[in-house]
Amino acid sequence: MNFHEYQAKQLFADYGIAVPPGRVARTPDEAVEAAKAIGGDAWMVKAQIHAGGRGKAGGVKYCKTTAEVKQAAAGMLGTKMETYQSAGVALPVDCVLVAQATDIAKELYLSVLVDRSSKSLTFIASAEGGVEIEQVAHENPDAIKTLNVNFVQGLQPYQCRELGFALGLNAKQVGQLTKIMLGLFRLFNEKDLALVELNPLAILTDGNLAVLDGKINSDDNATFRHADLAAMRDIRQEDPTEVLASQHDLNYVTMDGNIGCMVNGAGLAMATMDVIALEGGSPANFLDVGGGATKARVTEAFKLILSSDKVRAIFVNIFGGIVRCDMIAEGIIAAVKEVDVKVPVIVRLEGTNVDEGKALLKSSGLAITPADNINDGAKKAVAAAKAA
Ligand code: GDP
Ligand code: MG
Repeated sequence: MNFHEYQAKQLFADYGIAVPPGRVARTPDEAVEAAKAIGGDAWMVKAQIHAGGRGKAGGVKYCKTTAEVKQAAAGMLGTKMETYQSAGVALPVDCVLVAQATDIAKELYLSVLVDRSSKSLTFIASAEGGVEIEQVAHENPDAIKTLNVNFVQGLQPYQCRELGFALGLNAKQVGQLTKIMLGLFRLFNEKDLALVELNPLAILTDGNLAVLDGKINSDDNATFRHADLAAMRDIRQEDPTEVLASQHDLNYVTMDGNIGCMVNGAGLAMATMDVIALEGGSPANFLDVGGGATKARVTEAFKLILSSDKVRAIFVNIFGGIVRCDMIAEGIIAAVKEVDVKVPVIVRLEGTNVDEGKALLKSSGLAITPADNINDGAKKAVAAAKAA
């Protein structure tokens, strides 16, 4: 799950990490009130969306007067914003963060993530922040410093100091960085996060470090034990189909092809997508209905796939282990009857009660194309999508 910058900054503050005073506003007038309440002589108005790259998209404005704050907020609120990081989607700007503006001397980069190759929480830092870190990593890899944290010892202050000096910070800044890193480490562990990114972590003209932007991504498998995080979810920033899928316990990811896939088991789902690609096609989604799929869930899954207008054919690929093929067939029949299916449906069933399942599909009178195996099914689905 992703968080807004204002939510990330609230979490930072809860863990003793100082952030510039700020407040959220949902109307231009509220933005003016916020600026007055937090004080100062200049403010940043920042669009709150689940994507970085807002600065370049006009979503981060420096304002010298409250009239400018009002104008900036009015220009962002109620619009939809697309950035180079929003994957081609325009996200709604429902609120803005109004924060005291600071004078930046230099922008650094700092993040924490789970590094699977070293099996540790890892800090990544660079003295060349602010810009796209991927570009820095590509053009100047020496400018990227990494610190793997031993999971038994935890993060040690001396490691933070080493990193700080390697970034070229002075003693006072190294002390501030250490406090930020220890706070982030505790936050990361206690809240079961997957990624925290500060870009920029700025050196201000007065020499102090300041956290000016914050991105947090948490581990969805742990959300059940963090009611406070769950309450911060903003589903308006999420793909509507994926939101619907999560309500029905379906693992669904929207993709950009035109063959809808309904598969049980994540491994088989990935294999199915590979075979579709091998046959020259392109999947419209990843969908794992799960090992314990019920008829109702199959029906919902079918409706989800059909909610996309890009889908030109549907490939159902089920291996009945725990789940029974006849029950899957009932789900398909129910869904096809309930939703007006205009695209070809190719079904490959194998495993428990496969004969009963096939018989049900056949006697349903619905236009469903049976497939003998995964390759045959993919071939038929690709051909059907091309013909459509
Ligand atoms: P992003 O573009 O979505 O990553 O949004 P950021 O919060 O990182 O803001 C983009 C840029 O705006 C930063 O890299 C800074 O250069 C600038 N910026 C952000 N906050 C401040 C501030 O308080 N003062 C000044 N002068 N610039 C800021
Ligand atoms: Mg940023």
